[in-house]
Amino acid sequence: MALNLSERLGRSRRSKQSSAVVARKTTPSQVLVQIEEVGVGSYWATDADGQLIYLSSRAIQSLGEGAKALIGSDITTIFGEVDLDDRDQVATRPLGFSLVSKSKIDDHIVKITLPTSPEGDKCTTRWWRISGRPYHDHEGSFGGYRGNCTDITGEFQQQQDINRQSQYDELTGLANRRRLNGRLKTLLSSFQASGRSAALMMLDLDRFKAVNDTMGHPAGDELLKQVADRLRSLVKDRGEVGRLGGDEFQIILPDMDDRGELGELAGRIIQMISQPYSINGRRAIIGTSVGIAIAPFDGLESDDLNGAVDLALYAAKEGGRGTFRFYTAQLKEEASKGALLQEDLHDALEQGELVLNYQPLVDPNTNIVKCFEALMRWTTAEGVAISPSVFIPVAEQSDLIIKLGNWALGQACRDAAKWPDDIRIAVNVSAKQFMNADFCRCVAKALKNSGLAPERLELEITESVFVGEVGSVDTTFKALKDMGVRLALDDFGTGYSSLGYLKRAPFDKIKIDQSFVRGCTLSGDTNPAIISAIVALAGALNMQTVAEGVEAMDELELVKQRGADLVQGYIFSKALSQKEVVTKFEQGELTFEPSGPARYRSDRQTVFRKIGLIHEDHYYDVMLRNISKSGARIEGLDNVPSGTQAVLDLGSGQLAVCTVENTGKGSQGVSFEVPLVSDGADGLVTTRRISPYTLAEAGMPLSALGPGAYTMPKQIAGKVGLPKFVQLPIGSEAA
Ligand code: C2E
Ligand code: CA
Ligand code: CA
Repeated sequence: MALNLSERLGRSRRSKQSSAVVARKTTPSQVLVQIEEVGVGSYWATDADGQLIYLSSRAIQSLGEGAKALIGSDITTIFGEVDLDDRDQVATRPLGFSLVSKSKIDDHIVKITLPTSPEGDKCTTRWWRISGRPYHDHEGSFGGYRGNCTDITGEFQQQQDINRQSQYDELTGLANRRRLNGRLKTLLSSFQASGRSAALMMLDLDRFKAVNDTMGHPAGDELLKQVADRLRSLVKDRGEVGRLGGDEFQIILPDMDDRGELGELAGRIIQMISQPYSINGRRAIIGTSVGIAIAPFDGLESDDLNGAVDLALYAAKEGGRGTFRFYTAQLKEEASKGALLQEDLHDALEQGELVLNYQPLVDPNTNIVKCFEALMRWTTAEGVAISPSVFIPVAEQSDLIIKLGNWALGQACRDAAKWPDDIRIAVNVSAKQFMNADFCRCVAKALKNSGLAPERLELEITESVFVGEVGSVDTTFKALKDMGVRLALDDFGTGYSSLGYLKRAPFDKIKIDQSFVRGCTLSGDTNPAIISAIVALAGALNMQTVAEGVEAMDELELVKQRGADLVQGYIFSKALSQKEVVTKFEQGELTFEPSGPARYRSDRQTVFRKIGLIHEDHYYDVMLRNISKSGARIEGLDNVPSGTQAVLDLGSGQLAVCTVENTGKGSQGVSFEVPLVSDGADGLVTTRRISPYTLAEAGMPLSALGPGAYTMPKQIAGKVGLPKFVQLPIGSEAA
């Protein structure tokens, strides 16, 4: 196609006065023709419909021969916007805006992709900086654009490389903090417009420092690379993985808000990261904790979301070994409580606020007790009982745990020395305490001072001691075995589940974690198979097995049948005081009779919380009395027939569709249509939440919604119509 500027622009000859200074006898169009012939300028032009009608020869040269085929195409399809990743190199206003409003175009960078093969399967990409002016004919009607262009491909690509480098982590090749922040900001603002959601996960490696310290920095670097590979292969194209620095990673997951799915993904990440690593022929094991926050529910802006995910991660770490945690509004309060706890705990031992209680481990075939586990109890001066699952992790943050642990060791040995000779005592030992150089000496001292026979003492340690470098662990094991003490592997299957060390470490006993036992009798559950496998494995390695946390008769039957040697759980007894234990023995009693519910019911938590029930056009206040994954009990309504469909408003946008299963005076049991999921700790949450965007549509300004703290306003539940049920006074009103 021959293109001649003067032909194409013929109509412009009679146009308004040209401002250019042109020598006599040479018309402006002749000058243009000459410029074109000399080949110095690059020009383009469109017609009124936005179709490309002209490219100067130099412009064609820049694109290659294929460029001629562009003539006649819409320029919005030719002049593409640069990729999102390269946006910070260019002006942000899209070209389309200028074209639609027929306004001028100044130095806009566009991306032109052209096929280089006839089949169109190979392409070349060039970047141009273009400027253009709308052209109006003498009658003033718009006649298209006239513009020039500069090929900036070289400098653009160079800039792109520099940008890439500043956006990616050199060591792992993952996105760096800068890129993650940028991505999150852009994503959230564009998602806000379209009402979409996005999840943010934050990971912190557990005990990475130990690897770094004991195996050296190059090994630490290698470990980080392997962690990055594992994360990439898990997340795939569902989101972007990045490294914030150190041993902190972040994952942005667009369009993910299902807490069931997110919890599963987090669980898989934890499991995958906890598999052993081979680094220059040496093995290392680490773990990870994961915090999760979801926009728009937990925060609309990236700062809010980052703050929320930090808190969630902090809570996950507090929760101990390899766990995940969703952000909830309560986390903020809990965080400040933890700090206070640490102060009080320091004095607790001196003030005599700590005691040990003893829970029996029973042979399920004879009901005879074989051992007791020492469990620490803390009652503060104000009389508040604080659970060890709360204060032990706090103590583990400092060396306080060593002091507490050694005290427990001494006290337990002294107490056990007063029991019959064939009854053992099991004492929990924290990883930090175990690693402490002084540990073996403390054990020896506890035995000597109490006169307890070494084979009566059993030390319960968790898989977390196998983290980092393993040499010193082996030495400690050997020293303890030489002393004649027994070793038990606690909470087996929860943390760094790797069977490798089982072969090497001289354990006498494996404790199957409660999470495999609880609910193992539910149909379709795979836990019975896991229990069988652990029992078989332990048998092959000449170790005993203990099933922990047995509460119901059917669970007892199952673990017995699957071959567990010992059973520990509420089914036989909770932890007893030393006085109770001694009294029992003085009466010559060695057995515990099992007693408990016939069948396991999914964990029911007792609560006393005001929530809402939505039925047809009415919003009722009800009191939540207990809640499990599958259902809840509520109080405060009368005349509610069984089979009624309703929605429970559990707060923070959590709506659960439910059916009334049984109904009594002022109280109903309901079952959920979609089961609740764990929040990573003991809490239960709905998989999805009603979006603040929906609330905004219903007239509530987004800015009025605090992060994660918004509640379902009654007016959105429906116009308050005539109630079908009788609302009774609830809570303090009832009193
Ligand atoms: P653990 O070592 O796994 O101890 C067993 C926990 O399960 C105890 O909780 C026990 O009361 C609970 N348990 C036993 N049977 C059942 C049951 O049938 N159902 C349910 N739901 N729970 C049952 P506890 O006493 O709250 O201790 C929690 C954790 O705190 C312990 O878990 C242990 O990791 C830690 N801990 C307790 N005492 C000490 C200590 O002296 N030193 C150290 N380092 N840790 C301790
Ligand atoms: Ca234990
Ligand atoms: Ca345990």
